[in-house]
Amino acid sequence: MSLSLSGVTAEMISRYATAAPRYTSYPTAVDWLNQADLGNYDQRLARAGREGGPISVYVHLPFCEHLCLFCGCNVHITHNRTKSAHYLDVLLREIEAVGRTGLGVRPLTQLHYGGGTPTFFSADELTRLSQAIFAVFKPEPGAEIGLEVDPRVTTEAQIRALASLGFHRLSLGVQDFDPQVQAAINRIQSVEETRRVVDVGRACGFRSVNIDLIYGLPYQTQEGFQRTMDEVLQMRPERVALFHYAHVPWLKKHQTALEVGMAPDPLLKLRIFVDALHRFVDAGYDYLGLDHFALPEDEMAKARRMGTLKRNFMGYGTRANAEMLGLGVSAIGEIDGAFWQNDPTLEGYERRVLEGGFAVHKCHELEGDDELRRSVIMGLMCQGELAKSAIERRFGIRFDGTFATELAELAHLAKDGLVELHPDRILVTDLGQLFLRNVAVVFDRYYRARLAATGAPKSTFSRTL
Ligand code: SF4
Repeated sequence: MSLSLSGVTAEMISRYATAAPRYTSYPTAVDWLNQADLGNYDQRLARAGREGGPISVYVHLPFCEHLCLFCGCNVHITHNRTKSAHYLDVLLREIEAVGRTGLGVRPLTQLHYGGGTPTFFSADELTRLSQAIFAVFKPEPGAEIGLEVDPRVTTEAQIRALASLGFHRLSLGVQDFDPQVQAAINRIQSVEETRRVVDVGRACGFRSVNIDLIYGLPYQTQEGFQRTMDEVLQMRPERVALFHYAHVPWLKKHQTALEVGMAPDPLLKLRIFVDALHRFVDAGYDYLGLDHFALPEDEMAKARRMGTLKRNFMGYGTRANAEMLGLGVSAIGEIDGAFWQNDPTLEGYERRVLEGGFAVHKCHELEGDDELRRSVIMGLMCQGELAKSAIERRFGIRFDGTFATELAELAHLAKDGLVELHPDRILVTDLGQLFLRNVAVVFDRYYRARLAATGAPKSTFSRTL
């Protein structure tokens, strides 16, 4: 894959630099309608248990010792281990409540700990948590068991304990190794401590390492990011996520302290991304779309080649078509045909669980039109190509008739070289991969309705460029 930005003008960038979802779900959480009965959550879990099929479990562990200024996660900054110990007790109560519904008869195909910093918890605490989960859910052969770690606080004892529990996927936050960038984002992390965690993880049997990077941060330059790339490529992670920095200070107040005036402009950001893309591809990585790369033998790269790559609340994945249970503060799941989210505040989450076992505070029953548009959006996001006949067969529609407005809009993107519109399919071009969210948003009914009503996209979304 070779990408040139020679045809990308400042005028074109200003047209496409808009606020849009990243589509880890459709509809996105801001558009959920709360039609499902939150009080029936236990019955919905019980019904999902009777339906069978594999299930993914995501556990949110929100604690960190220091705040990174770019952070967009649901995070709780503290050094107080009493708080995290209490949270763990509450989480175990939520897991017990799930166990009582019978959902655990379904085989576990994926378990992921995200945060926050999961390794804020000690090896013993992580062991207690994992044993509680495995007491309810039995991993199927080949299940993906992984977690996010912050190399600055992760010890060898934790990695060994996790490996002995069956964890084999490690995802490390790096963002950028440039000292000036690290100072600006309040995250000082050396190459050596990062490499140490990668090496210890591999020595303990972790088969897959992912590294998260971010472009669009203050003081980033093409040259500086090349040096970060040199270090990352030497570690040869199986997967890399190169995220576009999401600046949403109206949601994450601490981001106001970030010197966004020193961040690269949209064209320079694209250059940094395209430089990195070429480096990864030259080093043998497959580009999976949007912000993900993987070595060809990795499951995700294989899934992309076979057209089975999926996307859910955890981003791209190979198990994302399985239903998903979210545990912990703010965790999101998809169970029994509906999306569910736990209370996003620590106090609210703990109070709800202690009162009733569960903490769901928001939901959305998926409707027929949601399912249709989700298939279209996820097809574009995950495969970069959409066969109209597959959608027509599955949903009993005539694609060109149902999506006449959307196709007319896509014709403008086709003129800019971002998509190709064929009679039987829509193809996202290589250049269009850089504007993937702009392509997908065309099919978002909720986004379109809000634009028509207010003339502006929802301010909760980050900018596409
Ligand atoms: S370590 Fe991760 S979750 Fe914690 S503050 Fe930094 S970016 Fe946010």
